[in-house]
Amino acid sequence: MNILVANLGSTSFKYRLFRIDGSTEQLVAKGGYERVTDYGRAIDDCLAALRQAGHVRDASGLHGIGFKTVQGGEVTGCLPADERVENALLATADLAPAHNPPYASGIRQFREKLPGVPLVALFETAFYQWVPKYANSYAVPLSWRAVGVRRYGFHGASHKYVAERSAELLGRADVADLVRGLYQHGPRPVPGVFLRVISCHLGGSSSVTGIVDGVAIGTSMGLSPQSGLPQNNRVGDLDSAAIPYVQKKLNLTTAEVEHQLTKEAGLLGLSGISNDLREIRAAALAGDRRAELAIDVFVHSIRHWIGAFWFEMGGCDALVFTAGIGENNPWLREAVCAGLGDLGLYLDCERNEIALPETDLATSDSRTRVLVIPANEELVVARETFRHLAAASDASGTAFSRSLSSLSITST
Ligand code: ADP
Repeated sequence: MNILVANLGSTSFKYRLFRIDGSTEQLVAKGGYERVTDYGRAIDDCLAALRQAGHVRDASGLHGIGFKTVQGGEVTGCLPADERVENALLATADLAPAHNPPYASGIRQFREKLPGVPLVALFETAFYQWVPKYANSYAVPLSWRAVGVRRYGFHGASHKYVAERSAELLGRADVADLVRGLYQHGPRPVPGVFLRVISCHLGGSSSVTGIVDGVAIGTSMGLSPQSGLPQNNRVGDLDSAAIPYVQKKLNLTTAEVEHQLTKEAGLLGLSGISNDLREIRAAALAGDRRAELAIDVFVHSIRHWIGAFWFEMGGCDALVFTAGIGENNPWLREAVCAGLGDLGLYLDCERNEIALPETDLATSDSRTRVLVIPANEELVVARETFRHLAAASDASGTAFSRSLSSLSITST
């Protein structure tokens, strides 16, 4: 099956084409366009590029298109990207203004351009469907909860990839198998000892998720992606009283507050230098105090959430770092793991410095494994799109292999 994963930004369109069948997965092409004003044109260009490279003859060579949709309120999971999904994206657009409108309009244009090609939405909130209610409820009036004000969680594709891959790397094929079928079959009890993983997705936006036997028990992000850890330029967690207070003190409108919290806050706001941790780190090393503070706040927040899930799960078998910051900054991993000997976590400084992907960075006597797993969100969207289409064709009586046990990833 040729599965196209479409990544739609407010002015960008990136794509990856995967070829997936019962036993192999292959990334065959990737590309994208910036400063997009017309998705219809970008879709045509993408198809032309795939045709020219000989990957597909025409649109009928695409068996499905997957979208990593962000916030749909109670509409979540891996679903046909139909009008219900579009409406859910628009109804919650205020909670993910940079993501929901482009996805709603992009999905519509794909449907008009390529009628007959199945469209599938994998919501970033999908991984948190089984988080206990006490962990996803805010203490707000009932009327707020009735309109969907609660913790949803994001980066679901990334944390699901970590849940599956960490289980494979730790020799827990049973848990990896459960994670693979999670959106089709839901969670089920796994015999033997619990596998407790804390996944740290640290990148342009960041979140920490606690995972027991492949299923999320809670996450740092809440109602919108501007919650939890300080993000690159988004605020992260904030006392709600701060908003009416600064509105009065600084004479700001609601729109100005929103703009500042979503564009001028986070690591950028704290450092006053950049939203990129590389530049903040360079400034901190040169003695800039605000840059030092930005890093200290970020590390403290990561440790705060790791601590929350460590306690909640009664321990941690593997601490995983993923995404741009998590994969590429040994000094940050060292700061996050510092002083945890009493909890049984010992980082091997040499291994941490080299950090080959998917190797264990902990010492042999550490009770907690420390892994770096390169993020692979598009692959998760492609896999789930494949599984969704396979299950749909099973249901309609067509034979389809669902075995994805021996995987090989190659890229062009
Ligand atoms: P996005 O979340 O937008 O996909 P990334 O996951 O690449 O982006 O995360 C961006 C962050 O990762 C930036 O703060 C940047 O400093 C950091 N980062 C990315 N690549 C590197 C690298 N090679 N070395 C150090 N930091 C990096």
